[in-house]
Amino acid sequence: MGAADTRGRLARLTRARCVVVKIGSSLLVDADSGRLNRGWLESLAADVARLRARGQQVVIVSSGAIALGRRHLGLEPGRLKLEESQAAAAVGQIRLAHAWKEVLEAHGLTVAQVLLTLGDTEERRRYLNARSTMRTLLALGAVPVINENDTVATAEIRYGDNDRLAARVAAMLAADCTVLLSDVDGLYTAPPGRDPDARLIPEVDEITAEVLAMAEGPGSAYGSGGMATKIEAARIAVSAGCHLCIASGRVTSPLAAIEAGAACTWFKAHGAPLAVRKQWIAGSLRPAGELVIDEGAAAALGRGKSLLPAGVTAVRGRFERGDAVRVLDTAGHELARGLVAYSSADADRIRGRKSAEIESILGFRGRAEIVHRDDLVVTRKETA
Ligand code: GLU
Repeated sequence: MGAADTRGRLARLTRARCVVVKIGSSLLVDADSGRLNRGWLESLAADVARLRARGQQVVIVSSGAIALGRRHLGLEPGRLKLEESQAAAAVGQIRLAHAWKEVLEAHGLTVAQVLLTLGDTEERRRYLNARSTMRTLLALGAVPVINENDTVATAEIRYGDNDRLAARVAAMLAADCTVLLSDVDGLYTAPPGRDPDARLIPEVDEITAEVLAMAEGPGSAYGSGGMATKIEAARIAVSAGCHLCIASGRVTSPLAAIEAGAACTWFKAHGAPLAVRKQWIAGSLRPAGELVIDEGAAAALGRGKSLLPAGVTAVRGRFERGDAVRVLDTAGHELARGLVAYSSADADRIRGRKSAEIESILGFRGRAEIVHRDDLVVTRKETA
């Protein structure tokens, strides 16, 4: 493996527009004392500040609520019942958020706590809401610190592990790099403790059956998110166009360590996040309705702009917010496909109107765009 390969891989982190960093409980909380590893957290905060200073967006997915909270409730070591871990999370999350606020504020960074449940990334409407809140936070320069809302998430509606939560968040935000920091430094060909020939794999190009078998081998289940959930997270991330790195957090300044060439495993994404998302919108969704638009709006679409209600002349079909729709010109030719920000009933009421009028017409303050340009794929350029 040449130095150029290594540099190329590192650029996935150093050149990423948006980086999601997931931190495992075992790094944040000392196993014996149940207390926060403050010095380590401060070193990671310095890492985050450096990325932000380079102009990169950073999203943190932080575990540790349950591990931090249990001591304060006098819960004995060992496995907790679901309701005990939910109670521990309620106590721990407030401390966790406070710690993040302190360490990041020391670098002048504003921290935002976001607690998600599975539905926030799997249900269309909630997905759109969570995404727009998170995008707004990032646009305003804040660092979102995300965890699962363990206190209310019951067994059947849980992510269960933050590896997959991090990958879902990365896909939702069209992030281009995800780093999973835990007590393992990557994927090995065999369990490293048992097999002297075990080799760390620096790069996984495709998640093949062979790769899955390495993750499932005995002795490779580390903590709540074992190697199998990390591979599952990698599958989610790369299929959304996001590179994913499994790296050790057992060092201070773990992101700087990766940049300095520490051993880790990269799962390579094929295609950029937005391009992958647009392929998905253009190709695999069955449109639920149609928006007919005027010439001015068609021209704006061709210039890469969002579709505003003002340019819509007719609404056809029945759809909900978040559904896929076809965008047609007045002659009925398809110009674009996209995910619509309003239901068909609401779209019909605001069509032809200015975005500033939306609130007085619908009685709530909706998005200015009826289809945002990130959710829009031009399928045919207007030539007229
Ligand atoms: N949400 C859990 C916590 O904060 C951690 C889940 C995980 O580590 O994967 O304690």
